[in-house]
Amino acid sequence: MKHISLLGATGSIGTQTLDVIRKHPEHFTLESMSVGKNIELALQQVHEFIPALLSVQTKEDYDKLIHKVPNKTRVVFGTEGLEEVATAPKSDILVNAVLGSVGLSPTLAAIKAGKTIAIANKETLVTAGHIVTEEARRYNVSLIPVDSEHSAIFQALNGENIKEVDRLILTASGGSFRERSRDELEGVTVREALNHPNWSMGAKITIDSATMMNKGLEVIEAHWLFNIPYEQIDVVLHKESIIHSMVEYIDGSVIAQLGTPDMRVPIQYALTYPKRFESITNERLHLWEIGLLHFTKLDMERFRCIKFAYEAGKVGGTMPTVLNAANEIAVACFLEGRLSFLEIEHVIEQALESHTVIKKPTLEEIIKVDAETRAFIHSTIK
Ligand code: NDP
Ligand code: MG
Repeated sequence: MKHISLLGATGSIGTQTLDVIRKHPEHFTLESMSVGKNIELALQQVHEFIPALLSVQTKEDYDKLIHKVPNKTRVVFGTEGLEEVATAPKSDILVNAVLGSVGLSPTLAAIKAGKTIAIANKETLVTAGHIVTEEARRYNVSLIPVDSEHSAIFQALNGENIKEVDRLILTASGGSFRERSRDELEGVTVREALNHPNWSMGAKITIDSATMMNKGLEVIEAHWLFNIPYEQIDVVLHKESIIHSMVEYIDGSVIAQLGTPDMRVPIQYALTYPKRFESITNERLHLWEIGLLHFTKLDMERFRCIKFAYEAGKVGGTMPTVLNAANEIAVACFLEGRLSFLEIEHVIEQALESHTVIKKPTLEEIIKVDAETRAFIHSTIK
């Protein structure tokens, strides 16, 4: 029986993780969980799974909820609450499915506590990849990818020596606006941007897919997870989202992982690795029904966020921290109707250009740069 800690239980990845736990009650049990502000769903979840620990975001919600949870569930809140959930003594594995760089401190706490980490929360790897991976090595902790592309690469690598790899090839669906030119992006609405053709995901990552920042963040995520230079990471547009990513070896052999687009498959694999269990979904890939798979070369001028991400990644240091923080705030402002779609790119570019990089930042420096960048974006938007 594996005891699971789950950060972000009420989110898209969080609820799908609970689906996987529900499917295999003989193998998995939920030990601890965190939520943000969705208290109603959180209450349903704790009454179903009866975890030992629940963390909510604010003290107000803590006060509201404390008398409504089962006797066995202790309630905590705030950043310390996230860390407590991540390090729950009985838990074997942390699924980090929280949104944004708030995931950094609980990830580091879990590493120090020796927990295996199934990581969906890519912002944590983007903002402080060198610290997270160094700490994971130091404490001999595995970081298992949940993101479908990285799970695909992890599976295609199958423990092979990364030195025998020539390139990682990430596939990108292209998001909601893949058929539009840059000119046609002027004035697009939040609702249009939220309409992803292949995947059903949280709001922020759906917008990131439309700007293609998601793929940019994933390039940086791949760099850290697989310890490979940016020059050896490519992106190809593949609108069907059937090939989830590929590894090209030095002998020219390319190994791909395919499947229907369903996040419960990579989530489950991260929990069962190195084993495989029967999937929660009965849907199987019938290639004859799909017929054609398409691949297109990526145009970095059309999707400028990918260019920003490669550049920030190659400069390194605090540049990816700025990229991520600027993007988190810009996307939140777009979702609130305070910024237009194309302005997302524009304000991120401004934040990157005005930043003086710190080459090997400490955790404190990363936290400071993250906060400064958020403030910078807010001030530009005002
Ligand atoms: P959602 O927005 O659906 O869920 C986010 C979760 O985090 C919710 O439980 C939310 O709580 C919680 N949360 C948000 N902000 C805070 C905060 N400040 N403090 C504490 N909890 C918080 O996101 P997704 O599930 O789509 O994405 C989660 C992560 O997984 C992201 O990093 C994303 O990039 C990554 N990912 C997602 C994929 C997907 O298919 N959705 C695919 C690959 C990666 P509440 O709702 O209760 O407020
Ligand atoms: Mg992905």
